[in-house]
Amino acid sequence: MAKIHELSENLTNQIAAGEVIERPASVVKELVENSLDAGATRIRVDFIDAGLKQIVVQDNGTGIARDQVDLAFTRHATSKISNEHDLFKVSTLGFRGEALASISAVSHVEIVTATENAIGIKADFSGGSKKGQEDAASQKGTKITVRDLFFNTPARLKYLRSPRTEIMKIVDIINRLSLGYPHVSFTLSNTGKVLLRTTGNGNLKQTVANVYGRHIAEKMESFEAKDSDFKITGLMSKPELTRSTRNFISILLNGRYIKNFQLNNAIMDGYASKLAARHYPIVVIAIHVDPLLVDVNVHPTKQEVRLSKEKELSRLITGAISDALLDKTEQSSGFANL
Ligand code: ADP
Ligand code: MG
Repeated sequence: MAKIHELSENLTNQIAAGEVIERPASVVKELVENSLDAGATRIRVDFIDAGLKQIVVQDNGTGIARDQVDLAFTRHATSKISNEHDLFKVSTLGFRGEALASISAVSHVEIVTATENAIGIKADFSGGSKKGQEDAASQKGTKITVRDLFFNTPARLKYLRSPRTEIMKIVDIINRLSLGYPHVSFTLSNTGKVLLRTTGNGNLKQTVANVYGRHIAEKMESFEAKDSDFKITGLMSKPELTRSTRNFISILLNGRYIKNFQLNNAIMDGYASKLAARHYPIVVIAIHVDPLLVDVNVHPTKQEVRLSKEKELSRLITGAISDALLDKTEQSSGFANL
């Protein structure tokens, strides 16, 4: 047996990247989440070659102070939590301090960033090490350019699906994040050609119109409910408007797009027998809850979370949706009786 030794930082970063950065869409997700955590109100994403040649994410958030840029690219370095206590009440999308270190381990990254009224900085990282830095004129905000993703991990490149599928995954993540952040204006483009633009005026129906089209937004009904722990608001399609997959259901927990089988079922239960078999509604549901009731430290990509009181939340969701459907039928039968 070879002797036991600690792995180099480069190698551990590559290993971490294997978990967090699966494909171009993972880069987009991590960078945009950072922009959202930085309080950006405008986020532009552009990619070339399904994200393999280049991904650019530009925001008007807080920016990173010049002397903190190296730290931002260091694994397990974060501004978002500082002690064990914080881990149980994470209120930002990120907290693991892994994304920038992981991305720069498997690509060439250029960052241009500036905080308010400060001289900006441009720095380059590649394959896990820093290549240089210089002053750069920049408005407050951050622009990150990721080139030649997976250039040093050929196995990962092989595992990718067709460009069309990879692009769909990028579009999907931006769709969900824009539905979660109607106050933020998103622009997504493929080699300069705009695929999605949201107004960011805070109106969820407007955002649904931007994402799924006006004809769909017009047919959506709003619903809401709350109990002592949860507040839910959202938009839902009427039973006449359905899709053949569950992909049009977006669950956003404190702004984080999550996948959760139970909550999905709770939504379907709200429609009860009003949906035909294999017909699924279009639903956007925003759940607001005290971060203490959510454990986001389940999986590196944080799309799965563990929720205290999931049963109570499920009941609340089912009730809100069935009430919203009931309201409509009662109204119409009411008129019929006049
Ligand atoms: P995490 O988001 O888990 O903290 P990241 O590796 O994604 O880890 O980012 C590291 C740190 O870099 C963040 O904690 C944040 O302070 C800073 N940062 C990254 N992206 C941005 C951005 N777009 N605007 C401002 N700060 C950023
Ligand atoms: Mg992050």
